[in-house]
Amino acid sequence: MPEQSLTLGQQVTLERAALRSLFDELQSRGYKVLGPALREGAIVYDELTSVDDLPVGWTDKQDGGTYRLERRQDDALFGYNVGPHSWKKFLHLPAVRLWQAERTGGKLRIIEEKHETPKLAFFGVRACELRAIAIQDKVLLGGQYADPLYRSRREQTFIVAVNCGQAGGTCFCVSMNSGPRATAGFDLALTEVAGDDRHFFTAEAGSESGLQILKAVPHRIASEEERAAAEARVAKAAGQMGRQLDTTDIKALLYRNYEHPRWDQVASRCLTCANCTMVCPTCFCTNVEDTTDLKGENAERWRKWDSCFTTDFSYIHGGSVRSTPRSRYRQWMTHKLATWIDQFDTSGCVGCGRCITWCPVGIDITEEVRAIRDTEVVPIQSSGNDHGES
Ligand code: SF4
Ligand code: SF4
Repeated sequence: MPEQSLTLGQQVTLERAALRSLFDELQSRGYKVLGPALREGAIVYDELTSVDDLPVGWTDKQDGGTYRLERRQDDALFGYNVGPHSWKKFLHLPAVRLWQAERTGGKLRIIEEKHETPKLAFFGVRACELRAIAIQDKVLLGGQYADPLYRSRREQTFIVAVNCGQAGGTCFCVSMNSGPRATAGFDLALTEVAGDDRHFFTAEAGSESGLQILKAVPHRIASEEERAAAEARVAKAAGQMGRQLDTTDIKALLYRNYEHPRWDQVASRCLTCANCTMVCPTCFCTNVEDTTDLKGENAERWRKWDSCFTTDFSYIHGGSVRSTPRSRYRQWMTHKLATWIDQFDTSGCVGCGRCITWCPVGIDITEEVRAIRDTEVVPIQSSGNDHGES
């Protein structure tokens, strides 16, 4: 089939060696390629110089408060799930200087910050992460006040998604309807098939720029067997979820249970360390810090990631609104799963499982919802009997 006829969504096959061509093609078009890499015992997101920087032949084992890397039996390039980093660190930067001020000879000068916006290629974005990026798009670009820095970086981003061929111990994307297959929000989507006899990828373009890059990489139309093998990998991942979350009527459930005793139990374990918010791909809260030098001649204003788990976050004159771990954990979980729906018309959770894996005491959002659901005290409805008899 002539390559001009390649269309969006059409499945093609790339042999393992073609991944290098794909990587090189992105670099030759000026993209800085970012993707998973092994660093200090974890798979994190960092700049990649070649496809060899991927964690080839590694996998991760995850559970509440536990993360371990292990060797795989094969040489899969994407044989692991999500680690402690998410793509938000490249789009919604952890620390940004907003402006500087300088005083000389009694005159004040404001120096506007010039932010560079490199062309970024995200290599290996999972389905839950695509959903998380879509949620941050809503939060940071929707409504009256859009974040110009986020917008400029987002507009320069090319996304290579990878469908999951296995689920991690804390994954629950199926419950949140956000994976394990990438359905929207990518330029290219790959499915890896690493077997004893063959190692290949099926690929499809999700955008015009993705289509142009795919055409430049050695490929052929995928056979029925290749498509079926790729389908089977994703179906296996969907059937292996480490966790489940029943989202039925979840907003009303949490709104009804602000005073549930479970909040005290979880608060007795929670260290309010804020790990769960830092690793979460949708949490977006920031603080603004001003600094000056000792002479008062130079000042800077910085925006930095913040967390609803700190007391400073809700500090207003006289004290913190959420002074207890109970109120802070309750705020975080009800925001994720309930008030977020009122604010942004979507859940704030994509089921990536990071908050469970990276909580030092293994607090599990799916378990907390289950505990509240299973032990909710439902008020007895009035029968309409005026005498109060039942
Ligand atoms: S739930 Fe876990 S990760 Fe989050 S603040 Fe509490 S102890 Fe830290
Ligand atoms: S709340 Fe937890 S599981 Fe949900 S998106 Fe955030 S880190 Fe992932």
